[in-house]
Amino acid sequence: PRPPARPERSAVIDLAAIRHNVTHLKRLAAPAALMAVVKADAYGHGAVPVARAALEAGADALGVAHVTEAMALRAAGIDAPLLAWLHTVDTDFAAAVEHDVELAVSGWELEPIAQAAAAAGRTARIHLKVDTGLGRNGFTMQTWPAAVRAAATAQGRGDVVVVGIMTHLGAADDPGAAETEEQLTVFERAVQQAREAGLDPSVRHVANTPGTIDAANLLDPARMLNDMVRVGIGLYGISPFEDRTAEDLGLIPAMTLRSTVSNVKEVPAGQGVSYGFRYRTPEATTLALVPLGYADGVPRIGTGGPVHINGVTYAEVGRVAMDQIVVDLGEPGLATDTERNPLGAEAVLFGADDNPSVREWSRAAQTIDYEIVTRISQRVPREHV
Ligand code: PLP
Repeated sequence: PRPPARPERSAVIDLAAIRHNVTHLKRLAAPAALMAVVKADAYGHGAVPVARAALEAGADALGVAHVTEAMALRAAGIDAPLLAWLHTVDTDFAAAVEHDVELAVSGWELEPIAQAAAAAGRTARIHLKVDTGLGRNGFTMQTWPAAVRAAATAQGRGDVVVVGIMTHLGAADDPGAAETEEQLTVFERAVQQAREAGLDPSVRHVANTPGTIDAANLLDPARMLNDMVRVGIGLYGISPFEDRTAEDLGLIPAMTLRSTVSNVKEVPAGQGVSYGFRYRTPEATTLALVPLGYADGVPRIGTGGPVHINGVTYAEVGRVAMDQIVVDLGEPGLATDTERNPLGAEAVLFGADDNPSVREWSRAAQTIDYEIVTRISQRVPREHV
């Protein structure tokens, strides 16, 4: 009988790495609590298994962008504290309130959330979000005084309880950026004004992964760490900093993107490879095909990204196609060499030990590591190990 087959291609997620990273980041954040950010299917790593692993390792809460993401976690039986922060007028606040999903309020949401809670005879747990300079979600400082008064009124009615105040940083990955200091100062003023309006939010939260890691370099780390940090990319063992690797930060990469070599063939010098014939073999050589393409999330502009086969890291050649990429193995004769033919050999685009690293792909595709992992598509099964 044949041994049980592996998926033809998969993203293997090392949950022990997730647990390690949570433990490590929690130590950096202490005494602040740690929210594990598992939006966007845990940055492509699988929200439910990652959330469970993070909670096992001591995460105090979970964070997502959308209420729909929160509801999927609740449907899977995860009952940990859970915050959703990005809403539209069509968001189902009633479902969120019913399932104890905490909600960020950035503006217009206060009234519909309060109404949904009143209708259900419940109290919605909310976090007021202040825009301290990023220019995205959150009350501006112009609208903040009215916002805290309105929230205090709704709290007085019992419709909501303001459990948190939050903001998001725009340049925490750039240590020493003047804007970070300015954002922290504005945040402190916002907290002060909320207190003056009679609110007593127990959870102030600002820091993302780079903020959490770099807090130790600040004069007063507590200004950054506050009562809780919201860490995403670090959970997955990816460095948010341009000039530091995961290993430099004590993090372990969790995702391996792999398949196997699906075709091996001999070609002469001058062979065009993939659409537009943008690569031509300089010498007679052996080409290997790997069945991962842009429909799987490999960036189409990522030509030259690394592919690790049998202990050697090759550069992908020619255009990334929808379903496949090609590697020039750099010597002829391998297709007919019974010892060395790599047909069926594991092909790793990035993975364990950072070899190759997500960073190499994000550089090839002129993007950031966040985009590489979040865009691995649903065609690639996740294997949680
Ligand atoms: N907090 C908010 C509001 C976010 O949108 C994000 C992600 O972008 C995070 C925290 C986590 O950021 P990071 O992945 O850099 O830790």
